[in-house]
Amino acid sequence: MLDAAIPQNITINPPATDDRRLKILVLFGTRPEAIKLAPIIRELKKKTFQTVVVSSSQHKELLKPFLKMLDIEADFDLRVMKQNQMPNEVCSRVLAKLDKILADEKPDLIIVQGDTTTTLAGALAGFNRRIPVGHVEAGLRSGNLYSPFPEEMNRRLVSQIASFHFAATERNRSNLLAEGTPNEKVFVTGNTVVDTLAFILKNLTANDKITELIEETKGLKRILLTTHRRESFGEQMSGNLKVLREFVEKRKDVCLFFPVHPNPNVQAATNEILAGKERIYLLEPLGYKDFIALMQTVWLIVSDSGGIQEEAPSLGKPLFVLRENTERPEAIRAGVAKLVGGNPRTLARMLDENYSIDTWIKSVKEISNPFGDGRAAQRIVKIIEEKFGAKVKGATKAQHALL
Ligand code: UDP
Repeated sequence: MLDAAIPQNITINPPATDDRRLKILVLFGTRPEAIKLAPIIRELKKKTFQTVVVSSSQHKELLKPFLKMLDIEADFDLRVMKQNQMPNEVCSRVLAKLDKILADEKPDLIIVQGDTTTTLAGALAGFNRRIPVGHVEAGLRSGNLYSPFPEEMNRRLVSQIASFHFAATERNRSNLLAEGTPNEKVFVTGNTVVDTLAFILKNLTANDKITELIEETKGLKRILLTTHRRESFGEQMSGNLKVLREFVEKRKDVCLFFPVHPNPNVQAATNEILAGKERIYLLEPLGYKDFIALMQTVWLIVSDSGGIQEEAPSLGKPLFVLRENTERPEAIRAGVAKLVGGNPRTLARMLDENYSIDTWIKSVKEISNPFGDGRAAQRIVKIIEEKFGAKVKGATKAQHALL
């Protein structure tokens, strides 16, 4: 992998005139972005496109093990991660380092995914060099600019920049149209996380430790917890962890698995509230296969993650969403997820109710996934092919029409 240096001169790429193959730069920086862009990268590589895969390494340790397992490799690593980094620092480092790559590689299209700071910086870097941007998972809106933070603002800003909006659902498309995005630039494709799940489930094995834990907790109602969002930190997170600890203490047939995110806020609250408790298993962040294998065996998932809301329906697992609101109401409408809100007492009540009467928990496995059918990446790449053509001569014209 090459390390990108900070650029000295910034120039706008001239339109390409040769007959080379279309060059597409795909950028990711976090675990969920890699999970959701991997099927697109693999699909692009199957076709005649040139690809430039760039990792910002916004979340270095979480990301690394995923690339091999997802069968993708980064051509460039921006290595922006630092301890306790804030969005402004990440954004400025990605912008500066990516710009050098844009200047050298001259891609015809940039693909970004979702709503991270890497996503925003990638889209902005493309805009400033007049390179069209394709936004995967476009049109999610929570309606609250500060929740999730900074993701809601990131995704709104990316929508202003993008030339192609690949929306997972009709609802996402409606959000974009309501904000004035032209209809002809919005494509409903499904969410690529469903493609990745299908890829993983073909050959799913967990490591020895997870297999042993599953064996050890046979017969228990397993709860799988993930929580790491900025807006959950502090009292809300501590309150939720206490509720879960009390629930496991009170119900001897329940256990809790918690792969603990490396963020120091999460680590501190977890060590204080959950460490050393019976039937509570604190784990390192899990590899994707281990995580999915564990998810397949659980009674209930409790999580503030975005991606898990999209995965739970494919595995037929009920989910309590630890958030005030969600930009993915499709899971709630479909009946797979329930919103907890910000009050830990609501979580306590919901746990008790569903322990006593588990009709909802049992009903979830029959529900189909509202986020996709496993063919989103194929659709996205086909749209790019149709809009651009595989060669640059055709692309240049289309490209400029889009800007
Ligand atoms: N995940 C994982 N190992 C873990 C926890 C989560 O592989 O220990 C996966 C999970 O299946 C989902 C993604 O990571 O696909 C979610 O990442 P995260 O919660 O960091 O981001 P979000 O989905 O909220 O954007």
